[in-house]
Amino acid sequence: MPETHGRRRAALRHSLTDAGLDALLVTDLLNIRYLTGFTGSNAAVLVHAGGDARTLFCTDGRYTTQSAAEVPDLDKVVDRASAAALVKRAAKDAAAYGRIGFESQHVSVEEYEDLREHVELTRTPGLVERLRLVKDEAEIDALRQACAAADRALGDLVAAGGLRPGRTELEVARDLENRMLEHGSSEPSFASIVAAGAHSAIPHHRPTHAELKRGDFVKLDFGATVDGYHSDMTRTFVLGEPADWQREVYELVRTAQAAGVGAVAPGAEVSDVDAAARSVIAAAGRGDAFAHGLGHGVGLQIHEAPSLAATGVGTLSAGMAVTVEPGVYLAGRGGVRIEDTLVVRAGEPELLTLSTKNLVAV
Ligand code: ZN
Ligand code: ZN
Repeated sequence: MPETHGRRRAALRHSLTDAGLDALLVTDLLNIRYLTGFTGSNAAVLVHAGGDARTLFCTDGRYTTQSAAEVPDLDKVVDRASAAALVKRAAKDAAAYGRIGFESQHVSVEEYEDLREHVELTRTPGLVERLRLVKDEAEIDALRQACAAADRALGDLVAAGGLRPGRTELEVARDLENRMLEHGSSEPSFASIVAAGAHSAIPHHRPTHAELKRGDFVKLDFGATVDGYHSDMTRTFVLGEPADWQREVYELVRTAQAAGVGAVAPGAEVSDVDAAARSVIAAAGRGDAFAHGLGHGVGLQIHEAPSLAATGVGTLSAGMAVTVEPGVYLAGRGGVRIEDTLVVRAGEPELLTLSTKNLVAV
């Protein structure tokens, strides 16, 4: 959608003007995708503060056809050394492109040393990332579809009896990932976590050949990808009738998760959102068993700003997409995490992951 990308470049222009720049050299591929729609593996964009007529897109010869389709609205330069080619082009027209910002987290200014007598290069990290913090409706729609693919895959897996004693963690992970593909995911958002029994007490356990057993907690943390946007959801099941300690831990995490979701609102300090969930777990005497942050932003990257953690700084804004994922992990016994992806809205947040959070015995 060229209009969407044009709107994002227009928003970026405000930050360029504020920073006193003529143009921004964008070299991070996710930022390029965000600003232009291009999904290839080599490109650079020089976004001009004056408008798209002076904005240049560069990629190499492999992507001529693809870039014509994905980026119909910008002038193209074809060169394998895409960023350098755009800086060279700018150096020939220093009146228009004299002050260029570049993404110093991705490139170093030394690469352009010989051009610095013609153009002034300034480190300007994070300008596009700052825009990406607040999602537009096209992005939220992609996130919604990714979350729906994960919800449907999990529903199908449970309905088909896919969580049963004797299956291995790896078999369950592959089954879940295949079902996400069937529901429109292009690839898993990240390496799926399937953790049974004592493994469920390891927050980021990687699936093994261990078999699921009756009485186990089974923790599934997984996501789908749609149009480059990721979903992130964790659900924890019990194989067979839950024991009392399993009910107690589950209900504690569920209550904490609801408290965290309830604290998600425009203007909320991210550390306060973390505290809203963490205090529930601490009050039950399980504070030590929740040793990670409450959540994170999600978008073109599975983990992006803002960080919802005790040490996090800043406030939430409407349109941010974040996860809320408290857990309680009892080493050697098992653990529970419940995670949703949601969008900050005025009033109640919009929940994107809709699978039930009731304790389900399978
Ligand atoms: Zn997750
Ligand atoms: Zn997460």
